[in-house]
Amino acid sequence: MRAVVVGGGIGGLSCAIGLMDCGFDVSLFDKNNKLGGVARTLHNTDYICDTGLHYFFEHYTECMSLLKKCNADKEIFWIEDRMLFMRADSKKGMYSHLPLPGALRGASAIARFNLLNFSDRLKLLGLFAKMAFLKDEQLSEMDNKTLEEWVLENGGNAEIISNYFDPISRSLTFMGASEISAQTIIVWFNGIRKQNKIRFGIAVSGLSESVIEPLKNYLLSRGCKIYTGCEIKSITINDGKVHGVNFKDSFEQRFIDADVVVLAVSPAQVNKILRNSPTAGKQSLIQMDEGTPVIVVNLLLSSNLTDEKIVMFGVNTCFNIFMEITNVSRNYSENHSLVTLIMNSTEDQLHMSEGEIQSIVLNDLESSLGYSIREKIADCEIFRLNDVVTKQVPGHSRSRVDNKTDIEGLYLSGDYTAGIQPSGMNASVHSANTCVLKIKNDFRVVA
Ligand SMILES: Cc1cc2nc3c(=O)[nH]c(=O)nc-3n(C[C@H](O)[C@H](O)[C@H](O)COP(=O)(O)OP(=O)(O)OC[C@H]3O[C@@H](n4cnc5c(N)ncnc54)[C@H](O)[C@@H]3O)c2cc1C
Repeated sequence: MRAVVVGGGIGGLSCAIGLMDCGFDVSLFDKNNKLGGVARTLHNTDYICDTGLHYFFEHYTECMSLLKKCNADKEIFWIEDRMLFMRADSKKGMYSHLPLPGALRGASAIARFNLLNFSDRLKLLGLFAKMAFLKDEQLSEMDNKTLEEWVLENGGNAEIISNYFDPISRSLTFMGASEISAQTIIVWFNGIRKQNKIRFGIAVSGLSESVIEPLKNYLLSRGCKIYTGCEIKSITINDGKVHGVNFKDSFEQRFIDADVVVLAVSPAQVNKILRNSPTAGKQSLIQMDEGTPVIVVNLLLSSNLTDEKIVMFGVNTCFNIFMEITNVSRNYSENHSLVTLIMNSTEDQLHMSEGEIQSIVLNDLESSLGYSIREKIADCEIFRLNDVVTKQVPGHSRSRVDNKTDIEGLYLSGDYTAGIQPSGMNASVHSANTCVLKIKNDFRVVA
């Protein structure tokens, strides 16, 4: 049986691997010249850099077992389990665990978290104890409650939200505690506690392509056909059933027939492809919520901004920028820092010139750091990417979509379809796994 996977991000690659493993003849298409999707490495004449710094969490079991299967887990460099938080007023907070067993480890970090006073640390511990005892049915009731509402109802306060839950929620989902579903974040925390795995890591090389490359090699070695620089324009659907995909190569319009088509692309791209694919029955799909536009700006600075080898998270609510600074990757020397600024952009920011965006992010960074970075790094290398990514965050049940569509043979895979996980690489791999299971079931594959 023939399957086409549209999209070569970590989700599409994972889906293609799952389908190859059950005996499908798989072709994978990506419109970019490089695989990896949002987590891809860009090669420009002046620099090489990821579209955004990507962390792998140790408790992301589905993502980690995919990497292990393809021998890509060796590419991860695990960072010590500590983080530096930076507030908009430039006050810094250290969150680091003592080497204790089980839940005591997390408790030790909270007990020493200096951005909260003693009484708020006790309240935070109390909130984690409540999370741990929540039953599944209680959790699902929390889907349409925000994290902020849950924290306030359960003995927390505004200080705990702004110094702890808000930066964490933004770093995971790009949504603040007043927007994200309580269930999504609590399930994430409970996952760490249950598995007792708290480390997070990044690609040893500092570039996510070193993790993506082994997945591609796994597919090629098993005969998967991979087409890059090839955009799928539409799907051919007759009588409510998929027949194949249409694309244009450098010479002509082409058609590839398929029994199964998986769209492992963003909701905006799903809408675009389906809009070009005339068929009855597509109405339910073309109205998908396309999500929040996010502008990602990376600055590689030949200056060590962090006090230690550490990842620093900061949130400046002024421009809704989430900032990550690291010099932990071995690719960046001791004297370099990579600053990734993620801006939930407004419509007018999307149309700003490169210079205007650079100025906004530098002003914001300087106000967070409390000193003029431009003076300090006058001779530094700075680059920026004005990469607009549309991000649909499955923050609430209303924004979660099933893998299976009402068109026979057409499936969706992507972090926005994934149950109750925050969107991210694990959610993409999880979605790909559930997608493959549904295909196996529908096509009665025994493998
Ligand atoms: C700045 C930033 C930082 C992030 N950091 C983290 C992190 O630290 N940890 C984490 O777990 N997650 C992180 N994420 C989220 C993570 O990147 C995504 O969840 C994940 O990469 C999505 O993978 P995907 O395969 O589902 O989709 P995508 O990566 O969006 O892949 C879709 C692919 O489809 C291709 N495509 C689209 N349309 C077509 C078409 N018509 N024809 C052919 N190909 C097409 C695209 O080119 C793309 O390659 C981050 C996201 C951003 C934006």
